[in-house]
Amino acid sequence: MNDEPDAIAERKMQFLFALRSRGVTDARVLGAMEKIDRAPFVRGIFADRAYDDMPLPIACGQTISQPSVVGLMTQALNIQPRDKVLEVGTGSGYQAAILSQLARRVYTVDRYRRLVQAARHIFETMGLVNITAVTADGSFGLPDQAPFDRILVTAAAEDPPGPLLAQLKIGGIMVVPVGQSDTVQSLIRVTRHDTGFEYDELRPVRFVPLVEGLGRDE
Ligand code: SAH
Repeated sequence: MNDEPDAIAERKMQFLFALRSRGVTDARVLGAMEKIDRAPFVRGIFADRAYDDMPLPIACGQTISQPSVVGLMTQALNIQPRDKVLEVGTGSGYQAAILSQLARRVYTVDRYRRLVQAARHIFETMGLVNITAVTADGSFGLPDQAPFDRILVTAAAEDPPGPLLAQLKIGGIMVVPVGQSDTVQSLIRVTRHDTGFEYDELRPVRFVPLVEGLGRDE
């Protein structure tokens, strides 16, 4: 790895170029992804791949998502500056950090306490004061903070979880990967109207599964 400042600047430019070429075109999303450095969220032997457009392993057997997928999911949420957003699946905290640039307030939940603690530490270091990270089973949402303007699920469910649908405001949007198998999942956008829910299928994706209960920290 070449740590020269010029080399890092060059890799960051390529990072943004890759995002655009994969369909991340929303200027606010690109701005957030330019501002939030992915490197602090990727540690250990994979740290030098932080600006590659690929998912990478993190602690507890989980993964930090591919940056272009983070961008496309964020774009699909169409976040407004006053929005209160729930993310299910904190993982490294990278996606929550991107959301924090676009929304008023972000709640992020993971079933692994260890991941939540590590993410909190990075948020503090980066001064991202509008994120609250909670250890909980996110399939039940966060009833105390509900309802939400936007909900993003970053683990694959068989169906959009009922409690999350119930915690979405009217006019709200949820983006969730849905599918039973490890290999075939679809990214779904759910829009809540006063008359019911509208479902759009966005693209094939591959996420780790949404698992019930709290994780046992390794
Ligand atoms: N958004 C993350 C990547 C998420 S990986 C990032 O930016 O790095 C998926 C995460 O979902 C994992 O950390 C996993 O522990 C978490 N997860 C799976 N099932 C869950 C549940 N029921 N409640 C909360 N988190 C869950």
